[in-house]
Amino acid sequence: AETWDSVPLAPPDSIFKLTATYKSDTFPQKVNLGVGAYRDDDNKPWVLPVVKKVNEILLNDPAVDHEYLPITGLPEYTAAAAKLILGADSPAIKEERVVSVQTISGTGANHLGALFLSRFYQWDGPKQVYLSDPTWINHFAIFRNVGIEPLTYPYYDPKTIGLDYTGFIGSLESATPRSVFLIHACAHNPTGVDPTKDQWKKIADVVLEKKHYVFFDSAYQGFASGDLDNDAWAVRYFVERGVPLLICQSFAKNAGLYGERVGALHVVPPSKDAANRIKSQLSVLQRSEISNPPAYGARLVSLILNDPALFEEWKRDIRTMAGRIIDMRKELHELLTEKFKTPGNWDHIINQIGMFSFTGISTDQSLALTEKAHIYLTTNGRISMAGLNSHNVHYFAENLDKVVR
Ligand code: PLP
Repeated sequence: AETWDSVPLAPPDSIFKLTATYKSDTFPQKVNLGVGAYRDDDNKPWVLPVVKKVNEILLNDPAVDHEYLPITGLPEYTAAAAKLILGADSPAIKEERVVSVQTISGTGANHLGALFLSRFYQWDGPKQVYLSDPTWINHFAIFRNVGIEPLTYPYYDPKTIGLDYTGFIGSLESATPRSVFLIHACAHNPTGVDPTKDQWKKIADVVLEKKHYVFFDSAYQGFASGDLDNDAWAVRYFVERGVPLLICQSFAKNAGLYGERVGALHVVPPSKDAANRIKSQLSVLQRSEISNPPAYGARLVSLILNDPALFEEWKRDIRTMAGRIIDMRKELHELLTEKFKTPGNWDHIINQIGMFSFTGISTDQSLALTEKAHIYLTTNGRISMAGLNSHNVHYFAENLDKVVR
């Protein structure tokens, strides 16, 4: 027998497979609603104008070299990134108890955060994390990789195509005290369903009462509502209430820097002393995994965050992206309800937020869209609003109408 005979063939990643099938389809009106990246109205990737500008600045800066960054990353980047998510006047930052480490985008932040908890969280029982049902599918593998067993808590209610608030609160209440809950900071992937402010407050109450630990995943700040502060509201509120937590941050979507892998992990312990000890251990973990993070993307983001004029330009670019997505939601909703008079209630299309929308259609209906109309989406009925534009939204609405009748 050969050495590698026992290696089983793994299935291809479903999203990347969907994209490959879409690419090989020669039908002119084909639509890709599986994409997890922003597209402009011509279905093209969009380099943010502010990113183009800072690119030029970096390329022409004679002081830029290719030395290693420190283990925990570019200090002016991580400090600005912490301010962005926690708020410039965050008491936790003032009290010097925020530990920020540059990571390989949001995925790397999730990994480092999970690895850190696996090693250092005071587990009372088995190492377990509660993930929303459903969640970004990669969460399962990320936690399993570091020996933490994923469990799920109710989140999405198919009957209302909205939040299963009672179920969510119920699991917070019934979980053993000091459990770890992964919560999406905003623009929940894949459902597009977020708690309201009042619901967030009650969630924080129960989390505090049960002394749970919150693992915030923030991959869409600004991209959801178009406003950076608004999309950070839940995180800032939880910090203000003194919830023990960490935050995984990504600049993939809101800066369109998908391939540059710019992210950060922020751990917010109650004291500066704890922060120092945590930082020392995160450095040890980071050193053994990647030695030090990549420099280029962090330099780009640092320039944007630390220059008031560039920061304003970035906010404008974010509003362009979020605005186009919100417009698509409105247009799709209008087509379904007014033009096609599609059976059912479609208000969730405009109530949901962020790049993704759970349409509420079945697996069979999703498959029918692909087979009959060359419209590619995951079989859970999730569509990426970024894949819709003024040229294809009518075609999509018409075919969605057909499959639900
Ligand atoms: N977390 C969630 C919920 C996501 O949707 C994504 C991307 O799709 C990520 C994290 C991480 O993305 P990246 O590693 O590209 O920053």
